[in-house]
Amino acid sequence: MTLKKALITGITGQDGAYLAEFLLEKGYEVHGIKRRASLFNTARIDHLYHDPHEEDVRFFMHYGDLTDSSNLVRIIQHVQPDEIYNLGAQSHVQVSFESPEYTGDVDGLGTLRLLEAMRILGVEKDVRFYQASTSELYGKVQEVPQTEKTPFYPRSPYGCAKLYAYWCTVNYREAYGMFACNGILFNHESPIRGETFVTRKITRAAARIAGGVQDRLYLGNLGALRDWGHARDYVRAQWLMLQQSEPEDFVIATGKQHSVREFCEKAFANAGIHLAWKGTGVEEHGIVDSVNKEAPLVGKYGMKQALSRLAPGTTVICVDAAYFRPADVVSLVGDATKAREKLGWEPLITLDEMVFEMVDSDFQDARREAVCKANGFPLPASCEAHM
Ligand code: NDP
Repeated sequence: MTLKKALITGITGQDGAYLAEFLLEKGYEVHGIKRRASLFNTARIDHLYHDPHEEDVRFFMHYGDLTDSSNLVRIIQHVQPDEIYNLGAQSHVQVSFESPEYTGDVDGLGTLRLLEAMRILGVEKDVRFYQASTSELYGKVQEVPQTEKTPFYPRSPYGCAKLYAYWCTVNYREAYGMFACNGILFNHESPIRGETFVTRKITRAAARIAGGVQDRLYLGNLGALRDWGHARDYVRAQWLMLQQSEPEDFVIATGKQHSVREFCEKAFANAGIHLAWKGTGVEEHGIVDSVNKEAPLVGKYGMKQALSRLAPGTTVICVDAAYFRPADVVSLVGDATKAREKLGWEPLITLDEMVFEMVDSDFQDARREAVCKANGFPLPASCEAHM
């Protein structure tokens, strides 16, 4: 029996890693496009890699970039995939304000390049295409909750670039009869979420502050409301979309909304720190209300001693106006009824379970960092990032 082949752009990212794992478990041959970097950038997928000289290898990597049409054509021709998942992107909203042209090139034109590559090779009717669309398309929200029919109003260069990619996907489906779908995914997180995204920044700081290797966390808008799911649940939806009889677009969300402030409270509680809040706006700060040395993760990682230094009243979270976006997206919450009814999809992992898993993982790094510092060893690369 011939194996189904999938090609994933952005395989080195959070979703790429979970999707590759998921597809390998389903029996696929998985090909990924990775960018050339001066340092290793494959930490999230190293556990999937096997020497291509071994037998029964089903996981392959190809150098490429969404800004380079020629290599996209060459890779698709070489791999002959049944399914393409376009997850590659400059995916950080704040960074898109700093690098708007690059974000437009990769996230917008990059999608067009992939769709055109399929047409150039004459495989547009043979390959199914998934586009990683985003709740950031809704931006200045016109309707609550947001569905597949809610009008878009992006509020960042990232959102604008993704809007272009969304419509290219719809247009190529209608113009050329391609099986092309948009997954409009609301925020999804995990222990391998990039360290500069707000959720991971919070869980990492909670573990490091509890562990005594960081004093304070600086954040932007604490009142921003988001619908957070787990990436492992969301990549299953990506696959389900390409297994339907007709190509369609789907919202993927939990339907539950929480503020950044609430996310902080959950993460810090897992790290044994109960928070109280003082002040408002840019003056708002999170202080230690009490410490709980009996919190399960505190015991598991031997952090009781380090927690003792955090007296009630100690400031651990501050607002820094530098993190406010020029145009903010204040409130997002999705309605995934269509996905539930047509794909049979629903999230299986709760927010509390996800936060626990993230803090657990970040505690491992914090403990390693504490041991290295105490003994004068160089820090592991994962600890050095964004200090
Ligand atoms: P990540 O930032 O973790 O991963 C992005 C991936 O894209 C990385 O593999 C990165 O490579 C790659 N990439 C960046 N630039 C290029 C380029 N020029 N050419 C080829 N590849 C490139 O994002 P996520 O995994 O979280 O998200 C996956 C997709 O889903 C993205 O398109 C994102 O915009 C979208 N999305 C994500 C949501 C979320 O909450 N996570 C919500 C909605 C949509 P490298 O490792 O080398 O940097």
